[in-house]
Amino acid sequence: MLVYLNKERLCDCKLVYTLIIKNCKIPLFNDIIEGDLLIDNGKIAGFSKSGLARADNYYDAKGLLALPGGIDAHVHFRDPSSNKAEDFESGSLAAAHGGITTVADMPNTEPPVTNIEALRLKLERIKGRSYVDYMLYGGVGKTTLKNIESLAKEGVAGIKTFMISRFPALLSPDNETIKAAILEAKKANIPLLIHAEDLTVANNSINEEVKSYAIKRGCLCESLAVARVAELNKQLKGYVHFVHISCANSLQLIHFYKSLNTQITIETAPHYLSLTMDDLEKKGPYAKVDPPLRMKRDVEELLNGLRNGDIDFIASDHAPYTKEEKDIGFKDIELAPSGMPGVETTLPFLLNLFNKGLLSLNRLIEVFSTNPAKFLGIYSRKGVLRLGSDADLVLINLKQEFKVSSENLLTKTKQSIFEGMSFIGKPIATFLRGVLIMENMEIRSKPIGSFIKRSSNI
Ligand SMILES: [Zn+2]
Repeated sequence: MLVYLNKERLCDCKLVYTLIIKNCKIPLFNDIIEGDLLIDNGKIAGFSKSGLARADNYYDAKGLLALPGGIDAHVHFRDPSSNKAEDFESGSLAAAHGGITTVADMPNTEPPVTNIEALRLKLERIKGRSYVDYMLYGGVGKTTLKNIESLAKEGVAGIKTFMISRFPALLSPDNETIKAAILEAKKANIPLLIHAEDLTVANNSINEEVKSYAIKRGCLCESLAVARVAELNKQLKGYVHFVHISCANSLQLIHFYKSLNTQITIETAPHYLSLTMDDLEKKGPYAKVDPPLRMKRDVEELLNGLRNGDIDFIASDHAPYTKEEKDIGFKDIELAPSGMPGVETTLPFLLNLFNKGLLSLNRLIEVFSTNPAKFLGIYSRKGVLRLGSDADLVLINLKQEFKVSSENLLTKTKQSIFEGMSFIGKPIATFLRGVLIMENMEIRSKPIGSFIKRSSNI
């Protein structure tokens, strides 16, 4: 039997596989080929012409495109937490519905993951409840710098700190703390993730208009923080990753520092690639997020950065709050918490960009799967459809509409900032290690998600 290994080499393989996904389209060798995807014991075992190989089980994917499962390197599934807007069951179901097979969860749960005890507590709490594979970040603030190395040894994906935050345990507002965190993360061989907003700038209040929230925490607030950290990182030869970059100016600064051969990566989120601060006026607290939505120019520059590689990958920053918590902000925007769900809509959003000719398929795969896998140190076990990789994949109908409405969402709050919009391109079925976990919004398996440790150094 002929099985494609690569374009030059074909091989004979064993006769009966665990699963064959029949008749799907597969992006391979810079082309899209149609054939069968062979899966054995949860791993990709080959690609063959339709009908050549045999298996114990078949899944007919006629007309569907197979992509590597998405890797969302920035979610807040609120578990454990007093915030009841999500938990690992509901969050991971939403992820699977959105074609995501691995998530990396942020450390601002309760207690914050700033030491091994908190990490183990969180792992214990999540065990057996996730439908997708998961990684966890540790967190660091002024008083917990010495815990970075031990957290790294336990397999955290990275270490997160906030330059501005409601969580004192995760706060690094001053250069001394940031320097120490960069050095400790470097010693532990893991990236330091930074929420970059300058606390001093953000503390200036302007007036009570809804938009003033976005103005005072404007692009200068972010870019100043980015410049401070990027310069320190250059001097210390560390590795920082900026989460949710939202401004054209920050992108320019990071481009400059990357050109100096410093180790920096960045992510952005779909809301920064599509919405502006005008949406804050229309949707009030539901569009409140940190950093805030920006101007049209920023959206356009971020889209350019997504295409040209300045932005390394997309992450949702999935951060739900209940209706009650959000609605307080209609009286006073300052009182509403910042954040919005997004894990479920990232892929439809990106497929829509592809269908509009704004993003190539290769680049979509890079920013949605391959690059986050590399960042998390789990490539090429994940993030690619390659022989020997985990059979984590999503089958897509490129022409079908994904209508964003509460009844089409599995996230617990049923909220989306894209409510009412339609994206062209829809995830139909999601497989984790060769097991069908979600199909047309229906759960198809038990919660088989496992904890994945960071496996490679930076
Ligand atoms: Zn976040």
